[in-house]
Amino acid sequence: MRSILAYLQQHEARNVEELLTLLRFPTISADPRHEMDMLACAQYLRDWLAARGFSAELLPTGGHPAVYAEWLAAPGAPTVLSYGHYDVQPVDPLELWNSPPFSPMIRDGCVYARGADDDKGQFLTHLLAAQAHLEVRGRLPVNLKIILEGEEEIGSVHLPETLQKNRDKLAADVAVISDSGQLAAGRPTLCYGLRGLLYFQVKVSGPSHDLHSGEYGGAVANPVNVLCGMIGRLQDADGRITIPGFYDRVRPMEAWERELLDRLGYGPEEVRRLTGVPELPAGGRRHPAEATWFLPSLDCNGIVGGYTGAGAKTVLPAEASAKISMRLVPDQDPKEISAAFVAWLKELAPPSVRLELQQLSCAGPILVPSQGRWMEAARAALKMTFNRDPLLVRMGGSIPIVLDIAETLGLESLLLGWGLPDDCLHAPNEKFDLAQFHAGTRAMAQLYDQLATA
Ligand SMILES: [Zn+2]
Repeated sequence: MRSILAYLQQHEARNVEELLTLLRFPTISADPRHEMDMLACAQYLRDWLAARGFSAELLPTGGHPAVYAEWLAAPGAPTVLSYGHYDVQPVDPLELWNSPPFSPMIRDGCVYARGADDDKGQFLTHLLAAQAHLEVRGRLPVNLKIILEGEEEIGSVHLPETLQKNRDKLAADVAVISDSGQLAAGRPTLCYGLRGLLYFQVKVSGPSHDLHSGEYGGAVANPVNVLCGMIGRLQDADGRITIPGFYDRVRPMEAWERELLDRLGYGPEEVRRLTGVPELPAGGRRHPAEATWFLPSLDCNGIVGGYTGAGAKTVLPAEASAKISMRLVPDQDPKEISAAFVAWLKELAPPSVRLELQQLSCAGPILVPSQGRWMEAARAALKMTFNRDPLLVRMGGSIPIVLDIAETLGLESLLLGWGLPDDCLHAPNEKFDLAQFHAGTRAMAQLYDQLATA
């Protein structure tokens, strides 16, 4: 391993060049004008991997292609599936960028470009670590399969189908995904749980057209008033969600998990300061990470209806609508909660209005084993790289592909990333810390070795 680490140190400048090249492809998957850029980047990655000893191809998906590559010359060793995505988020508002999003610039040890962290800089560490093994030892310690998706930022529309169609090709022992981050620089982080997501569009309508509020106010139900009342009743005064049965399957936090919270190094006060709120719910008596990792939540993401222009207009609007999302935790079943939510809203809606519901997302929560041989291998690789025991965390967000990989391929995923909380993902001036990039590459080189003997 020492010679591989020395090789990586000698090639840091070249590896940064590799990153800059990748970042120059404007791979915005949401924008049809970038279709050829998407294809060019996919072909570039395929050729890059082929030139380094992988057998590589493009997998057609019905949308943007996925890149697939494999190196399978380690008989008897485990097979590792590395997942990443080469597409990026749109870049607007462009005027807020300090340098053009697809002309990567290095400032203060960080590279600024769209996709620097999410996810090009991160998945490239998997590739560069493999390259180091191949060049120094002429082989990898594990069999390695790599899939790079081109549609993650548009909801991975074709990924479940692509995994299903290529099940045999993608068969492996464990998956590794670097699409998350660390709590702070130099604090390696391993994630073992993600929340799921349910998302609804809710529409309440009443009169066939907008009415005069003097003529009809009080006589006819106002859809905006009704919808606000319904949303208000989804939570009680303590913030508990009122959907019947909502908490039935929520897995209680265990004692060792409570200890994780104590080790985080932040609490209610830091979150209050970071977000600018006057106070956290319940006076901040609950650790914010308990709320986001171990408990489900419900949020109205937006609400529209009626007159919102300047000055006064006395109108009784014909309709109102809202977007409502729920983050779900193990072992809540998204289909069950979806049905319970629909039934509850129907009950809350008075007969004076019509209710329409449309489900926009439905992804379940996931827990990966927090122990076991793959997790131990990851722990060891991170400790060797950062000289610190990794923090075990859950995440309040959702990475639906982790569930797809578990359900379709039957694989446990190791979720370890090198991004930092201030990397401005999906926002102007996205960055990636180059020290994290190099450390991540070294950690991946260690991880391949550790997985080989796990
Ligand atoms: Zn991502």
